[in-house]
Order: sequence, then C-alpha cells, then structure tokens
Amino acid sequence: MNIHEYQAKELLGRYGVAVLQGHVAWTAEEAAAAAAKLPGPVYVVKSQIHAGGRGAGRFANDPNGKGGVRVVKSVEDVKAAAEAMIGKVLVTKQTGEAGKLVSRVYVEDGCDIKRELYLGLLVDRDSSRVTVMASTEGGMEIEEVAEHHPEKILKVAIDPASGISAFHARKLAFGLGLTGKQVGSFTIVLTLYAAFLELDCAIVEINPLVVTGAGEIVALDAKVSFDDNALFRHKDLEGLRDDSEMDPKELDAVKNDLNYVALDGEIGCMVNGAGLAMATMDIIKLYGSSPANFLDVGGTANAARVTEAFRIITSDVNVKAILVNIFGGIAKCDMIANGIVEASKNLKLSVPLVVRLEGTNVELGKKILAESGLAIIPAENLADAAQKVVAAVKGA
Ligand code: ADP
Ligand code: MG
Repeated sequence: MNIHEYQAKELLGRYGVAVLQGHVAWTAEEAAAAAAKLPGPVYVVKSQIHAGGRGAGRFANDPNGKGGVRVVKSVEDVKAAAEAMIGKVLVTKQTGEAGKLVSRVYVEDGCDIKRELYLGLLVDRDSSRVTVMASTEGGMEIEEVAEHHPEKILKVAIDPASGISAFHARKLAFGLGLTGKQVGSFTIVLTLYAAFLELDCAIVEINPLVVTGAGEIVALDAKVSFDDNALFRHKDLEGLRDDSEMDPKELDAVKNDLNYVALDGEIGCMVNGAGLAMATMDIIKLYGSSPANFLDVGGTANAARVTEAFRIITSDVNVKAILVNIFGGIAKCDMIANGIVEASKNLKLSVPLVVRLEGTNVELGKKILAESGLAIIPAENLADAAQKVVAAVKGA
C-alpha cells in the first residue's frame, strides 16, 4: 500500500524525522488559508499523487506546461498554483501517459536548499536484508543514478540480528561528504530504520534529503510503501489508504480478500492457489491466447466468493471467455460447482465459461454442472480446459 507524501511526512515526523511545516488542502481557498499559517515568505505547493517525478511533470492540457511542484512567494500565488493543480491530471515519468488526477495539494514552507541528497531503505531480495541506499545525487530518480553512475550509490545492508548502529550512519554520512554536526544529525538513518521495521514497510525513500543553508538535514520529499502482507498488524494505517489511486477492479478484490491482478489479455481466470493460477496463465499462453487477470480465490471457494470473483472478472470489458480451474481440497468440488451455478445465474454470465474441476467429490461436482441447464463447457484436464477456452474466444 502506498500513501501520499504529506501522510508519509506526518508519520515519519512522529518518529522524529525532521520535516518542514505544511498543511494539506483540497481547495484553492484551503491552500491559501494553509499558507497563511506558515512562516513564509517562500511557499511550495505540491501536487499529491501516488507517483514521483512531480516536479518535472506536466499537467495535461496545460499550455504553460508548469510542473506539479511549484515554489511561490505570496499567499495569492499559493492560491493560483493550487487552482492550477487541483482537479487536473498530472503526467510524470512514473504515471505513464494517462497521468493521475490531483485531488489535493500539500502547502509547505519553502526551503533554503544547499545540497540535495538521496536516502532510501528497501528490502533487498539478493541479500535478504533491509538495505540503506544513499547518494549525493539527490533530486533525480535513483534508477537513473544506478544506470549512469552506479559508483555514486552507497549501500549498507543491515544484519537483522544485530540491527542498525551508529557506525552505519557515520559510514553513510562520511560517504556523502557530510561534516561536523551533520554527521551527528545523520541519526535520521537510525530513525528511518526503526520506523521501517515497526511499520512493516516495503520502501521508505527520502528524495531529496536536503542540507539547508543553516546546515540542518531535512526530509523534503517522502515516499512510504507498506508491505500488504503485514497490513493486518497495522489497523491504524488503514485510514491512509487512498482508494482513488488504485485500479477499481483491484480495489474491489482487496475489499473481498481476493488476490487479483489486472492484466491486458482476453481470458478471465478464476483459480484457487497462486501456483495453479500461474500454471493456468502459462497454458493459456501456450495455446495462443492471453490471460485478462491473475486471480487466486484462495482455499474457501464458496458461492459468495465465486460470485464476487465472477463479478470482478466480468467488469473487465476485455474478457471474452472465462476459465475456472479449481482443485477441491478442503473446499469440495460439489460445493464449488454449486457456487459456480449460483454465481452464473445471479450474474447472467454472457461469455463462454469453461470449467475444470479436480479433487474431492469431483464426480458429484461435474454432475451438478451438467444438470444445471447452463451452457458451461466442462473440461477434463488443464490442457483440455485451455484448448477449449482459447477455442471459445477464437470463435471456433
Ligand atoms: P518529486 O520527487 O515528485 O518531483 P519532490 O518533493 O522531490 O517531488 O520535489 C521536487 C523538487 O522540488 C525537489 O527536488 C526540490 O528541489 C523542490 N522542493 C520540494 N519541496 C520543496 C520545499 N519545501 N522548498 C523548496 N524546494 C522544494
Ligand atoms: Mg522527490
């Protein structure tokens, strides 16, 4: 789960990370009121979307082509900048051509920037450790630095048994060319690591982390992404979710506790178990078509879940046929078959439906499907199912 910059700053600020004063605003009037509460005389208006590259981004249909982060010098200009952003679509390197709708802005105190650094924490799958990355090349995308100047990225993998220590922070601080009291203030690394672990993060990225004219170290941007598999431990973070930033089908699936990923093919897949789902997608490809989604309904494929799954699959206009491939283990095939029959009737399915069942009570399950009076195409095995569903979309 991703959150907005202003939410990330609020959260990290609670841990003691130095951030500037700022307020979120949903209208231009609120933005002006927010600016009036700040010290000034320089203000920054920042579009809040779940994507980076806002500063260098462009608003769709904006002939002036100004970016999603603007530095201004009066409350009136804050209002004008907010007016130009809210309700508009911002296109950045990370959003793709479609861009993202800006529904709110963050009005922040202006910063006297002396140096822009990069500091990021992530789970490095190669070393199986939380790894801190730092670079003198702040402000630009770290992927670009990695490509053109890999030598400018410092990496420190943290041993989970001994944790992070002051020497890690000093090593990074010296590597970044920090001196004097900035080396001492680089305990920000320790703070971020503590927050990363406690909040079960996947990514914490401060880009840029700046050294101000007064020599302070401040987080000027903040990206925090949580590990979805650990969210159940953090009910208090639930309120930070912004549904409008997600694919509506994927959001629907999250709410129904289904593992769904939208893809761009034409065959909707409903499978139980991630491994079987992957195999199903592969075999659809093998027989010459492509999957419209990955969907693992999990171990409890009952009528209610099957109905939800069908509803999500068929809300995708690209779906031309559905393949159900379910192995009845704990969930018995007769129960699953009843679920499929009930769901197809309720939703009045209009695309061909191929069903392959295997496992406990499979004969009973097949009988239920055969006697349902519905145009369900039964399949004997995985290859048979894939061939039949591909034939159905090709109109054979
Ligand atoms: P993004 O990464 O999405 O482009 P940032 O928050 O990193 O957005 O902002 C882009 C750039 O705008 C920063 O690299 C910095 O130079 C400038 N900037 C951001 N916030 C402030 C601020 N409060 N004061 C001055 N400049 C800022
Ligand atoms: Mg940034």
